[in-house]
Amino acid sequence: MSLSKEAVDEFKGIYKDKYKKELNDAEASEAANNLVGFFKVLYDCAVKEAEKKRRLKKEPEGFHITDGEYNCLICHRQVTGEESWYDKWGCKCLLCQKAVKEGLVPGFVCRDSDSWYTMWQLKDKFGLAHQTAKKLVREGKLKARIVPYADGKPYEYVFLKRGFGNKKRNQGKRRSLKPADKSRF
Ligand SMILES: [Zn+2]
Repeated sequence: MSLSKEAVDEFKGIYKDKYKKELNDAEASEAANNLVGFFKVLYDCAVKEAEKKRRLKKEPEGFHITDGEYNCLICHRQVTGEESWYDKWGCKCLLCQKAVKEGLVPGFVCRDSDSWYTMWQLKDKFGLAHQTAKKLVREGKLKARIVPYADGKPYEYVFLKRGFGNKKRNQGKRRSLKPADKSRF
């Protein structure tokens, strides 16, 4: 799909007004087509998301994804079809889905990636090597929510920022949760 000359000229005018720079025809055509392409991707995503939300009303427990490949919101593995699950928290692989359903990992981590650290972030931000972090978790010195494999071995670690690095404070906080807060889990 290519934009009409009229649309490209209009883009040229807007660009000149905003950035005080005149684009030649080729530059304007490329930039305008890129912009439209970008919004088409966003629009298509929004349409797919709206469709899934509609379907969720009929199937509140969720369903396998059939409209493309998506990254699991917890482990970030790319999944589709029977290895995927979509529910009110969004797209997950089946292992992460099961962990959320069983309450091992709170669902809000799917929507709020700022509420937790991944294993990689522990290394990036705190210089904590994976093996060290796993050892601290085993020893109970570092608190992690764990997505297990079917055999129970750890698949993915979720380190909630709330109370991070202070187990006692975290436990105190949990005791003082109000009933309304519990619905988040
Ligand atoms: Zn996953």
